[in-house]
Formats: sequence, structure tokens, C-alpha cells
Amino acid sequence: MIKFSDLNLDPKVLKAVADTGYEKPTPIQEGAIPPALEGRDVLGIAQTGTGKTASFTLPMISMLARGRARARMPRSLVLCPTRELAAQVAENFDAYAKYVKLNKALLIGGVSFKEQEAVINRGADVLIATPGRLLDHFERGKLLLTGVQIMVVDEADRMLDMGFIPDIERIFSLTPFTRQTLFFSATMAPEIERITNTFLSNPARIEVARQATTSENITQSVVMFKGSRKDREGTEKRKLLRDLIESEGEKCKNAIIFCNRKVDVDTVAKSMKKYGLDAAAIHGDLEQSHRMRTLDGFRDGSLRFLVASDVAARGLDIPNVSHVFNYDVPSHAEDYVHRIGRTGRAGKKGTTIMICSPRDTRNLDDIEALVKHAIPRSGEPLPEDDAGEAVKAETPKPSRRSRSAKPKHEDKPKAEAAPKQAEAPAPEAKSEKSETKPEDKPQERNSDRNNDRNRDSGRSRSGGGSGKSVGLGDDMPAFIAKSFDERMG
Ligand code: AMP
Repeated sequence: MIKFSDLNLDPKVLKAVADTGYEKPTPIQEGAIPPALEGRDVLGIAQTGTGKTASFTLPMISMLARGRARARMPRSLVLCPTRELAAQVAENFDAYAKYVKLNKALLIGGVSFKEQEAVINRGADVLIATPGRLLDHFERGKLLLTGVQIMVVDEADRMLDMGFIPDIERIFSLTPFTRQTLFFSATMAPEIERITNTFLSNPARIEVARQATTSENITQSVVMFKGSRKDREGTEKRKLLRDLIESEGEKCKNAIIFCNRKVDVDTVAKSMKKYGLDAAAIHGDLEQSHRMRTLDGFRDGSLRFLVASDVAARGLDIPNVSHVFNYDVPSHAEDYVHRIGRTGRAGKKGTTIMICSPRDTRNLDDIEALVKHAIPRSGEPLPEDDAGEAVKAETPKPSRRSRSAKPKHEDKPKAEAAPKQAEAPAPEAKSEKSETKPEDKPQERNSDRNNDRNRDSGRSRSGGGSGKSVGLGDDMPAFIAKSFDERMG
């Protein structure tokens, strides 16, 4: 068995790894760390949940442990598609570099330029950035990229989805030709292939199996659902969701509930709260500070249910999620893989249940083709009749215990029976058209690029709703502003 100590990492990095309690390197770490330490380019085909963040942060810290940064000339660069992911990578640096004296700067939208410039001016060993914010700093003349020795591109396929590839190409061209590149993507779309052929030099290619196709620790199922009447479908589907949660009983410690549409994220979260479930919504239209607070609450266990859209939750590493519910069948099969990958992380067990309406069966077929196995049905749909019963879905029967634990109002859902304002789609949902737009849908790069840039990488190009630049403000988690120096005391 390969151990971390076999990988040639700096002893101070090994000490920090030992503190985390990891027993052995994951396959992507085992594959990527040795060539990275040799100075080779690395192409890692892996998604979150595989330990890929440590597969680039550990060798980077080991290599950067020697040498000092010069003012305005960072020595290394990590590019991430979203603010949340950048903040998460920064957290990883904090954990693994705790015995090493390194300065990091996090350049993401919502944090004031002044603060970020101050860190860059002091000399940053590691710059963790979203592409737009990085180029903003560069264009203001506050940053030189000619000292970059190591450049990491994380979640390249997500960058592609969000229309960042031209930014990435530009950033590549601003860094020295001699830099080392560590490049990670969950999939190799033709455009990603092109970028790697252009900018990587004879990379060590490490591919780890997709989580969804191999993960035996995630129990998957589908529940077929058909509303009794079109106008009752939403109400009935929300009830079905509650029944499913209830039938999981205490096994369901916490859960992420994914919806395809932002309007459903809001409605489902509101409805769950009304029925006494501790839920909060997270999607691309909510303010960054609000998103961070909600995520922090879910991470630390003070919030049990996170109702989410794909853009807000993809790639996030939230350990210990026991359940993922797909309120809808995602329209892109890939998203199923990303969604269910939020549970069953780092070898833990997870459960995922998806609700499938008749109109979603084609998408379900696509998912099954992608993951190369049939997803077990929790029950066959009941034969259709016109009797008008509430929910024509076969849900797993709640256990006797959980049935008796049913809240009283569950039997008589006052709000659901006659949907009132709170249950209706939010009034600001101007048009169905805008709300049904998938959040991640790529858009053409155009003249409003600068506006987009201000929104930074939270800039999902279509989901931007309010379109305003929202800051982390006072809610910025403390670790974001911390440099390694400060923590070294
Ligand atoms: P990532 O793929 O980087 O998002 O990491 C997924 C999760 O795996 C994170 O919670 C890490 O803390 C955890 N992790 C990373 N490396 C290891 C390891 N060698 N052993 C166990 N867990 C790990």
C-alpha cells in the first residue's frame, strides 16, 4: 500500500496531512503528486470527491516551501470557476500549509480590491482566483504574471460551461512559457482537449474512475411520480418529497435537495420550512454573503436541508452529506453525476433518491446510459385512473416508527391543500422563460463582458437574475482574509 510518506512530499506538508487523519493517498493523489513534484505538467481527469484538491495543493506547497515571493509577482496561480470553489481551495491551502510559511491571496468577486491588492503587494506565493477577477487586477496594472512558476486550472469543464475558456487562454498567455501546469477536469470535451494540447507540455495523464459509475457506497433509487392533476402537481410533488424524507427516518441526517429551476428551489425550501423541516435555499440569484452563510450553516450541521440549484452546489466539498434528493431529473445527464457525488464522499455511505415524472423519462434514460447501469425503481407507478387520488406515486412505505412520528399538520396540509402566496412561485419570477433557463447555460461572450466580470465567477452567465455585483461584506468567512504568515504567528 502506498503511503503519503512514499510520495516525496515536504516533511512539513506530511505533518499537516497526518493532522487531517488521512490514512493513504487517493488514486488521483497517488497518480498526480509524484509527476507534479518532478516538475512535470499534469492532466488530471477527476471530479470533486476524489481528493483532487490535495493532489495539486500538496505538491505545490512542497515546491513553494523553498523561495520567497516578490511584490506583485505571485509565484503560483490556482484558477477556479466559482467563488465558493476558490474559497474551498483556499481552505485546503490553510490546512495543508499550516507548518509552512507561505502567503496566499484569494481574488474573488465580492472582496474589496484594496484588501486583495495589499496582499499582492506584500508578495503572494499562491494566488487563488476566479478568472474574471484575476484579469481585472491584471488590467488595473496591479499584478504581474511573469513570475508564475506553477499554474493550476481546476474544474476546467465547468470553466467551459461558464464561458471562461477565452479568459483562461489569455491568462495562460500572460504567464511564462516555462511554467508548470496542473490541469483538472471531470470530462474531456473537445474544447478542453484543444486547450490541453495547446498549453500543456507532455503531461502526465491521470484518469480516475467516475464516482457515479464506480461508487458502490451510494445507494441510488428513482421514484416514479405522476400528479393527479396538472394544477396539483407541485403540491403533490412537494408532499412526495416530504414523505420520502420521512421514510428515510433517522438515516437521513442531512440532505441536499436539487431542483432544476431556481423558482422551484425557492418554493420547495419555503414549503419544507412550513412543514417544520429545517431547510434553506441556495441558487445563483441569491447574494453571495447569503449563499456563504447558508453553506456554512449546512457544513457545520446547524442547517439540515439545503435546497439547491446545480450552479450553487456543484463542486462543493461538503463532507458527511447522508442524502441527496433529486426533486427533478436533471436535464443534463452529467449533472446527475455531479449531484449525487455530493454524498458518499471519501468512502462514506450515501443515499440518493430521484423523483421522475413521465415527461422526464427520456432524461432518465440518458442518465442510465451515462452511468451505465439501471437505477433501481423504488416502486412501479400506480395504474392511471381518474379517481383523482392525491399522489399517483409509489413511495416507499414509511416505517411504523416514522409514520407515528408524523407531524400532526402533515395529515392536513393547510398550506398545500389550497396553495397560497407562500406556495405560489415567487412574484418576482417574471416569466417562466427566464426561470426555466438552466443556471449554467453558457452564453455568448459579448460586449457586456465587463459587467460579467464585475459579477465575477459567481457570474453564471445566464442565471444572473439581478445582475448586480454582490459582496461578501461583513459576512466574509475569516479564513478568506487570513494569510499563512498570520497563522504562523
Ligand atoms: P476533493 O475531491 O478535493 O473535493 O476532496 C474530497 C474530500 O476528500 C475532501 O473532504 C477531502 O478532505 C477528502 N480527502 C482528500 N484526500 C483524502 C485522503 N487521502 N483520504 C481521505 N480523504 C481525503
